[in-house]
Amino acid sequence: MLRRLRLVLIVALVLWFFSPPDLRDEIPIWLPFAAVLALEAQFVVSSWRSGAPLVSRDDPRPGMEDRHRYGDGRLPEWAITEDDEGTRHWVDITEDEEEAPAEPATAPPRRRRVARALVEAAAVVVAVAGLYLLLERPGWDDLGGDAQRSSEARMSLEASRVAGKPVRIECDTSGRHVGAVRHADGIAIVGGGLAYLTPELCYALERLAAHGEVTSFSQTARAIAVLAHEAWHLRGVANEGRTECFALQSGVRVARRLGLDEETARRMMRSQLVANQLHGAATAEYVVPADCVNRGALDLSPGVDRFP
Ligand SMILES: [Zn+2]
Repeated sequence: MLRRLRLVLIVALVLWFFSPPDLRDEIPIWLPFAAVLALEAQFVVSSWRSGAPLVSRDDPRPGMEDRHRYGDGRLPEWAITEDDEGTRHWVDITEDEEEAPAEPATAPPRRRRVARALVEAAAVVVAVAGLYLLLERPGWDDLGGDAQRSSEARMSLEASRVAGKPVRIECDTSGRHVGAVRHADGIAIVGGGLAYLTPELCYALERLAAHGEVTSFSQTARAIAVLAHEAWHLRGVANEGRTECFALQSGVRVARRLGLDEETARRMMRSQLVANQLHGAATAEYVVPADCVNRGALDLSPGVDRFP
C-alpha cells in the first residue's frame, strides 16, 4: 500500500516537472517534495515500529503477527479424554513443538528490515533532492530589480553598438513575446528600436557581464549570438540567414566586450555557426547563406583571415 503510494507520488512529481508553467505556478515547489519526504520518513518509522515486515517478502506465508492471531493454517489435532470423575475434555495433542522452527524463515530481523527501508528512503530522497536542486537553479527571476535593470542597460548598450543606433533590450519575463510558446529565443521588429530576449539568455548574459561567469559554453554562446542577431534585425536586416551570419561575426566583439578572451569568443561563435549548419534542415530560413564564409560576400572583415 505504502509502496504504491510512493510510486504514485514519484509519478506525480515527474508529471509536475513537465507540466505547463501556469499549472506549475499554482502548486508551490516545496509541496510535492515535502510529500515525498514525509512518505519516506513514514516508510522508515513504520518499518522500525512494525513487527510485520513492511517491505514485501519472498515468503508468501503469513507473518508472525497474523499467525499468532489467526493460527498458522494447519489442522489442529484434538482428542477427547475422560478424567477421573467421568467428565469429557477436548485436549490439544499437537503440543507446541512446531512453534519454534517456522519463525526465522518468515520474518527477517528487524535490523535488516530497517536498514533496507533506510537505504530505499535515502535513494529516493537523494533523487528527489537532485531534482529539487535542478529546478531551484537560480535564474533571471532571482536577480534583484537593480541587477536586472543594470543588466538590461548593458545588453541594450551592446546591441546599440551592433545596431549602429540606440536600441533597447528587454528580458521577456511575461513569456508573451519570446519563450516556449513562440519557439524563439529572441524577437525584434526589423528596423525597430526594441527587442526581447528570453530570461534564460538574459541570465546567461548577466552572469557573464557582471560576474565573468560562463553558465555553460553552449548557453552563453547562444545568448551572445541571439543578442547580436536581434541587434542586426534592429539595424534593418530582415533575412534570417544573413542576420545570423552577421550576428555570429559581431558576436565575437560582443563576447570580448562582455569579458571573454578572443579565443573563447571565436570558439563560441564558430560553435554556433556549426550548430546552425547542422540544424539547418528543420529551420531552412535560418540557415546562413553559402557565402557566409571567410572572404565570402558576407564576411564583414575580409581583411582578417578568421571566420567568425
Ligand atoms: Zn531573426
